[in-house]
Amino acid sequence: MNVLTLVREDLRDFAGYGSARRTSATGSIWLNANESPWASVADADGRNNRYPDPQPAELRLRLAALYGAAPEQVLVGRGSDEAIDLLVRALCNPGMDAVVIAPPVFGMYAVSARLQNAPLVEIPLTDCVDGGDGFRADLEAIGSAALSSNAKLVFLCSPANPTGQALRLPDIARLAERLSGRAMVIVDEAYGEFSDQPSAVSLIDTMPNIGVLRTLSKAHALAGARIGTLIANAQLIAVLRNCKAPNPLPAPCVHLALRALEPDALAQSNARVVETVVERDRLRGLLAGSPGIEHVYPSQGNFLLVRFADADTALRRLLAAGIVVRDMRSQPQLGDALRITIGSAEENDALMTSLAAQKVAA
Ligand SMILES: *Cc1c(COP(=O)(O)O)cnc(C)c1O
Repeated sequence: MNVLTLVREDLRDFAGYGSARRTSATGSIWLNANESPWASVADADGRNNRYPDPQPAELRLRLAALYGAAPEQVLVGRGSDEAIDLLVRALCNPGMDAVVIAPPVFGMYAVSARLQNAPLVEIPLTDCVDGGDGFRADLEAIGSAALSSNAKLVFLCSPANPTGQALRLPDIARLAERLSGRAMVIVDEAYGEFSDQPSAVSLIDTMPNIGVLRTLSKAHALAGARIGTLIANAQLIAVLRNCKAPNPLPAPCVHLALRALEPDALAQSNARVVETVVERDRLRGLLAGSPGIEHVYPSQGNFLLVRFADADTALRRLLAAGIVVRDMRSQPQLGDALRITIGSAEENDALMTSLAAQKVAA
């Protein structure tokens, strides 16, 4: 299957913006981009008076190695948010080609679909709370909906935000097989580092309609630097590179990312992932045994989804202690739920203490 048939026909041979940095010229005097020849006083390292490389080779190489892909299968953007938006714009003809999601789920897929005027098809997660399993995506129904709605994109979140469950690779592969030549299956692994399931990146070589989103925003502690990665078929990546913003990656952010990908920084991130997983399981146990808590879902991410008998009171108690969690009550099926990010051990203890607080002035 040629995956380019999934790209909007009018964009398949789009060359994009001819950024001044997209030149093979080598020189010592650069007069081609109307930049300042001087560094700003604000720029201690003197590295920012030039436009950045649109896709720095070293960063692509390191991210490819980190995620187990080839550099030509990697597109780096301003967070995975940018990759989500780029996929929707490049694949979906407005008013025609649908996007399939399984709510309650991360909100950016629907936002990007809306901005592109791509029809949104929602196949709700099934809550198997009684079996103790938590939420489950119905991949059978998702596949059927994608085929019948002429969808170009299916977004799967694994581990899922906010519901916490992860998908098994054989199930993702079966869905992609069924949608071969019809739609891209995008697996958003923003929380992949915290999961015990392997990454879907290993499927991409044999299944060109699978793409994977990764980010440095969560486990790598660089949410402020906005570095996200799409890993997908090399031909598709080449097309998307032409559709993206001309110079999306600020040079200071690229330097931060490269630093965060050195062995000592990776070792520290790994250690913190281990610590977070330990804390996640500890906090789940503490919450599950607390009065006023109806259910704590199992989680493969760095957060817990919690149902409260009285979520309003819980929120008020937490806010009174200066603790901010995510109110999920406007989401379908989550009318009594809050999402709690796993903090440090001290932060988690503070959370438990304030939830247990006897009384708060109403
Ligand atoms: C946090 C999150 C992201 C956002 O990642 P950025 O790289 O910071 O844009 C993507 N997907 C999901 C499911 C998330 O929860």
